[in-house]
Amino acid sequence: LFITFEGPDGAGKTSALKDIVQRLEQHNIDFLATREPGGIRIAENIREVILNPAYQEMDAHTEALLYAAARSQHFYEKIVPALQSGKHVLCDRFIDSSLAYQGFARALGVDEVLSINEFAIGKRMPDLTIFFDLQPQIGLARIQANRSDEINRLDAESLVFHEKVYAGYEEVLRRYPERIRIVDASKSLDEVTEDVWKILKEVIV
Ligand code: C5P
Ligand code: MG
Repeated sequence: LFITFEGPDGAGKTSALKDIVQRLEQHNIDFLATREPGGIRIAENIREVILNPAYQEMDAHTEALLYAAARSQHFYEKIVPALQSGKHVLCDRFIDSSLAYQGFARALGVDEVLSINEFAIGKRMPDLTIFFDLQPQIGLARIQANRSDEINRLDAESLVFHEKVYAGYEEVLRRYPERIRIVDASKSLDEVTEDVWKILKEVIV
C-alpha cells in the first residue's frame, strides 16, 4: 500500500514515522519510508531551493511547480519501484501538503494545484493517508520550542498562514474522506504512535 502522513507543521509526523519504522522492522514487514520534498538526490536538491530562507522572493507558482517537480522525480524514481516490488511505502507528506499549502494557504487554488500534481504523478493517489490533526497555534508553538534542525523559508510565516494551512487540510478532508484517517496529534508522541500503529495494523500487519 501507498501510505502518506499529512498534517500541519509541528504535528509530529516525522517523529511518529521514526517510531513506526522501528515497529515495522520488528514485525519483519517489507516497507520503504521516505519523505517529501526530498527522498532522492534530485528532490533533496529541489528541497534546498524551495526552503532556502534567502529566497524570500519566490513566487507561489514557482513554489508549487518545484514541489510538483520534486514529487514527480521522487515518485517515479523511488516510490513506484518500491510499490512494484511489493513493499509498502510510507511517505512523510505528499500531494495533500501541496493542496493545503500551495493550493489553499497560498491561494493558487486547490483544483489548479491538483491538476499540476496529477500531471506530475499520473493521477496515482495514496491508498491511505493519516492526517495528524493539530490546531495551528499548538503546532507553531511546538516548532518554535523544539525545532533547530533545519532553517526554513517557512519559519517567517505567521499564525495566520498556518491557520490557512489548517483550513486547507479541512478542505482536503472534505474531498477525500474515503482514504484519510485522522489521529489526534495533540496527544503525546507515544500515544500518537500507538494510534497510527492501530490504523496500520488493520491494513498491513
Ligand atoms: O514536513 P517538513 O517539516 O519536512 O516540511 C518542510 C517545510 O516545507 C515545512 O515548513 C512545510 O510547512 C513546508 N511545506 C510547504 N508546502 C508543501 C510541503 C511542505 O510549504 N507542499
Ligand atoms: Mg516533519
